[in-house]
Amino acid sequence: MTRTKMLIDGVWVVGEGDAIEVRNPARGSVVGTVSHATPAEVDLALRAARLAFGDWSKRPPVERARLLKRAAHIIRERKSDLGRLMTSEQGKPVNEAVGEISKLADTFDFYAEEATRVFGEIIPNDSNAYQSLVVREPIGVVAAISPWNYPAELIGWKVAAGLTAGCTLVVKPPELTPLSPLAIMECMVDAGLPAGTINMVTGKGSTVGQQMVESDIPDKIAFTGSSAVGLHIQQSLKNIKRLSLELGGNCPMIVTAQANLDQAVKGAARRSFRNCGQICIAINRIYVERAAYEPFLEKLAAAADSLVVDDGLENPDADLGALCSQEPLDKTKQHLADALERGARLVAGGRAPDAPGLENGLFFRPTVVADCSHDMKVMTEETFGPLVGVTAFDKHAEAVRMANDTPYGLASYLYTKNMDEMRYYSRHLDYGNVAVNNVDAGIISAPYGGWKQSGIGVEHAREGLLEYLNYKHVRLCFDEDALQ
Ligand code: NDP
Repeated sequence: MTRTKMLIDGVWVVGEGDAIEVRNPARGSVVGTVSHATPAEVDLALRAARLAFGDWSKRPPVERARLLKRAAHIIRERKSDLGRLMTSEQGKPVNEAVGEISKLADTFDFYAEEATRVFGEIIPNDSNAYQSLVVREPIGVVAAISPWNYPAELIGWKVAAGLTAGCTLVVKPPELTPLSPLAIMECMVDAGLPAGTINMVTGKGSTVGQQMVESDIPDKIAFTGSSAVGLHIQQSLKNIKRLSLELGGNCPMIVTAQANLDQAVKGAARRSFRNCGQICIAINRIYVERAAYEPFLEKLAAAADSLVVDDGLENPDADLGALCSQEPLDKTKQHLADALERGARLVAGGRAPDAPGLENGLFFRPTVVADCSHDMKVMTEETFGPLVGVTAFDKHAEAVRMANDTPYGLASYLYTKNMDEMRYYSRHLDYGNVAVNNVDAGIISAPYGGWKQSGIGVEHAREGLLEYLNYKHVRLCFDEDALQ
């Protein structure tokens, strides 16, 4: 099997390190190989980005925007192939993978449009002889590192915002899903991105990623991944750098007795089980006001049982495909066993699907456990699998206390038709994102980021672009008297 090449300084290189096999989690078969980048190759990529920064950062924003738009167009043209490639390495059903590729193209278009709207400010001084200009300039070289659950989008947020700002990047895709990110890089090269502006080196995070973090070349690290690795990255910096960390979550949903129960159940099933729950903003735990508790549980169990679990390549519109690797599957089983041992009630799932043809894949049915308490892992740790815990509450203050009882602060969800409840909960939930009567907490046009141990900095929106820019204060002194 030929190795898929890495992109360094505009050249596709095989790489001199060991081969890494990429597997289809639905079948266990090898779908491709990539190289483990050597330290010299990582260094070459970082130096190429540094060299390319001079030209790229000086180009007029409209020129950078044109290239990003062309990349968006090419990505859209190739979305079916890119989607199938993603499914073959990540496991999510093809329709979902193609949807992710479309959102990646939208991200490029969004930031291409923002490119020409990076304004500065004019600030009056104490004396009329002076004027302060505040201008924004690109930070420099960015090392971008991202996980396997959304192989295209999470890289896209960093690449689109970074390139728009005038930064150059070296990207390390996840070891489990490097093929679709490399194919996206091909789109960018074909769009005409100059050599060195965007580079991609493959390999393990603990070596390739760590080297990028410790190198003194990048001016910024843009990382999405677990809180543990995010903290490790923060602690291993060897010089001062800008840092964006989009980290783990442990996201609660609150359903009051005033909610439209059918809508709440639809939202709960979608956000607990989409992408097999392998999403940082997945609903991990649900608090339901006691009057609505049993009806909600009954409906949620039925909704979970109706979801189709299948090989995502064979069945593009399945609801759930395979989990991406053994690790989230094992964690799901552990959290389920822990909940049942501590007295939770299994109301849906709890096992692998029994359909023929799925025996070699990492599949698990969407699972709901009820009557949960806060000594269970399902309620306090991020499962990152198709498992959700549910419990009842009596007082709104109690629901808020339980929802906030976590070191994380990424996203929270509320279903109610009562305006006072909307106001109360959205004010008291300690989360960077609160979605009310919907479960799409992250949209490209609004800032998206976590509080507490869920990270620092934001992605998406104008604010996500500002994360790649430095302020420069230019203080001007005029001599109007000389004109008299
Ligand atoms: P990890 O933190 O294990 O890995 C994320 C990335 O970091 C991977 O590319 C990994 O490489 C790399 N990496 C690992 N160790 C290092 C290191 N020492 N230095 C530099 N890079 C390193 O996360 P997972 O892959 O397990 O992803 C799941 C996590 O990501 C969950 O906690 C989830 O909540 C979070 N996440 C957060 C999001 C947000 O927006 N807040 C969005 C999506 C996910 P490799 O995989 O190749 O070893």
